[in-house]
Amino acid sequence: MSFRSHMEQALAEARAAAARGEVPVGAVVVAPDGRVAAAAGNRTRELNDPTAHAEILALRAACAAAGSERLPGHDLYVTLEPCPMCAAAISAARIARLYYGATDPKSGGVAHGARVFAHPQCHHVPEVYDGIAAREAETLLRGFFAERR
Ligand SMILES: [Zn+2]
Repeated sequence: MSFRSHMEQALAEARAAAARGEVPVGAVVVAPDGRVAAAAGNRTRELNDPTAHAEILALRAACAAAGSERLPGHDLYVTLEPCPMCAAAISAARIARLYYGATDPKSGGVAHGARVFAHPQCHHVPEVYDGIAAREAETLLRGFFAERR
């Protein structure tokens, strides 16, 4: 099977989140057969839930659809470097490959801060590919926060 990026769909979820007044982050979970298992954008404000990050919502939906707490062989696309909470959830879900866009020196937990996957306690480490459509994701975030200043 040839590689197909699902970052465009993650970016569409991020744009939809921005339109709802949420921080523009989007995520897509792809099943081993290449089918999109779940897609979500950030909904922390709408749901009054600090854990309602795009990755968490997409993982929950994909797990519910699979009827399993684990998603072996699944890939996750997200427009921004996951925070430590999401990185821990990605590990717990046994996600095979993580593709992310913009880096997040302030709140990221993969290449920055807690570096969850580099921690000896991390039981499952996905393959990580960063910088996928990073510029588009950054532009979205920058535009969103500039409007709020
Ligand atoms: Zn997160």
